[in-house]
Amino acid sequence: MRIIFKKNAGETERKALLKALAQALPGCVPARVPGGLVVTLSSPARAGETLPRLENLPGVAAVSLSDQELCPLACAAGYKLFSKPLDFSSRKPVFIAGPCAVEEEESYLASALALKTAGAQALRAAVFKPRSSPYAFQGLGWPALKIIAKAKKLTGLPLVTETTDTRQVERLAETCDILQIGARNMRNYELLKETARSGRTVLLKRGMRATLREWLLSAEYLLKFGAAKLILCERGDSANLPGTPLLDLRLMAAARKLTGLPVLADPSHASRDRSVAASLALKALRAGADGLLIEASLSPETARVDGRQTVTVETFRALRTIINRL
Ligand code: PEP
Ligand code: MN
Repeated sequence: MRIIFKKNAGETERKALLKALAQALPGCVPARVPGGLVVTLSSPARAGETLPRLENLPGVAAVSLSDQELCPLACAAGYKLFSKPLDFSSRKPVFIAGPCAVEEEESYLASALALKTAGAQALRAAVFKPRSSPYAFQGLGWPALKIIAKAKKLTGLPLVTETTDTRQVERLAETCDILQIGARNMRNYELLKETARSGRTVLLKRGMRATLREWLLSAEYLLKFGAAKLILCERGDSANLPGTPLLDLRLMAAARKLTGLPVLADPSHASRDRSVAASLALKALRAGADGLLIEASLSPETARVDGRQTVTVETFRALRTIINRL
């Protein structure tokens, strides 16, 4: 913890601060540095609770916490890479593929089988779609659960589905192996808690324009409330302004290093363009991504949602082959 004194803070205020620190954070070790204090904490988990009291004391200009103090679980970096329901332990890239949403049984099952043959290790199986427009296709909802269960039986692949509401979590967790928290819900803390409690592996996307810290804090929620297995996924900022990177690969690499968790890249939502998605996928893997979450199907041209950014199974297969050779 770093505390910066106000320029006009006198000795009385500095002493009062030391007293408050000793009371609020017993066992902490403050050391004077020019302009303030560096405090070594015995229990970083309590620091977040104490911070508002400390920064409110006269004489204090600012109090800040390191990533490790703010997110002790997410920044533990000591996680053993798991092998189930997806195998990250071999450190080979992992591919989760499928259409943006489940739209209809026959086409979904055909794509699922074709993607398995082409090398997918898990299926995108979205039944609820959080859409920016209330007029856009919202996903089939619960009727799609039967379809994805069939796909699981048919392919033997684990299912990744997005949960958009706390009331969906329990039922989705019965069928699905990995619950996805989408970019729009990265800051939905009640949803994070409920999803963590389900006991399923969680895939957490970075929210649009979210900082590394905000992403780590959401990961911290999941770990604190019971998620034993967590996957992060960088999906870009969606702004696509000229000159802005489609994926933030620096931030992705930093998240990997700080957390030790597997970090995937989503070149589909980042590029919103299938002619760019495959090359972006390669770029992300070269930058260290542990795998991809990619939209792929047999018929992107007729999709009700995100067809423009969905690659064909052929492209997916080609991508898989290139990566196998890397
Ligand atoms: C998705 O992966 O289906 C999705 C909706 O992506 P995002 O949350 O990144 O927009
Ligand atoms: Mn999509």
